[in-house]
Amino acid sequence: MSTILRIAIQKSGRLSEDSLKLIKECGIRFDNGAGKLKTSATNFPAEILFLRDDDIPGYVEDGVAHIGIVGENVSEETHRDVDTVHKLGFSKCRLSIGVLREHDYKGVQDLEGKSIATTYPRLLGEYLKANSVHANIHEISGSVEIAPSIGLADAVCDIVSSGSTLLSNGLKEVETIFRSEAVLIASKHLSEGQKELMDQLLFRIKSVQVAKN
Ligand code: ATP
Ligand code: ZN
Repeated sequence: MSTILRIAIQKSGRLSEDSLKLIKECGIRFDNGAGKLKTSATNFPAEILFLRDDDIPGYVEDGVAHIGIVGENVSEETHRDVDTVHKLGFSKCRLSIGVLREHDYKGVQDLEGKSIATTYPRLLGEYLKANSVHANIHEISGSVEIAPSIGLADAVCDIVSSGSTLLSNGLKEVETIFRSEAVLIASKHLSEGQKELMDQLLFRIKSVQVAKN
């Protein structure tokens, strides 16, 4: 059987467009009919899987996908056993702590004993531990920014790019705990053939990046 490289990318969201664009700029042609969950490249031995970004590290760890494109934030938070192969330079954002704007925030010690709403309990926990702060991590699955204004939490820890979502919810950004961009991750159990295909793709990705700089 001939070797095929299975590439996982986000189906729809903030990573999708740039992920598809990068693959196309690498000269890989495929038909991505709307709503398709899987497609085959026509001029490179590859298949593209369209998934929720949170699921990509797990699929790559299990070897269902051989490589994937995901935010470092998600890759670090899910803590799967995968290799981070290359930084891709798009979907830059940061994971930050925000508090109500009227809060007279002086420093991380102010978070002692407080409750913080987040979808990133692992990264937040590590940050608090490193700063010897004991706070209550309140894990929720979305709409984190409204938590303080409805009295659900004292602070939030969420992804920020421009900061406008924080602002419009009466919050201010007080700590940045993690800086992120899209990365290429790979399974630790690739065959020689799969590795070779990944290296070919990586060479093209690097050429695309050089051409842009
Ligand atoms: P999915 O339905 O695939 O789970 P999602 O809603 O979890 O999607 P998106 O909002 O599409 O995820 O964000 C995907 C990734 O894009 C984030 O994990 C992050 O790495 C990056 N990103 C860049 N800018 C932002 C931003 N302003 N807000 C959120 N994520 C951003
Ligand atoms: Zn997601």
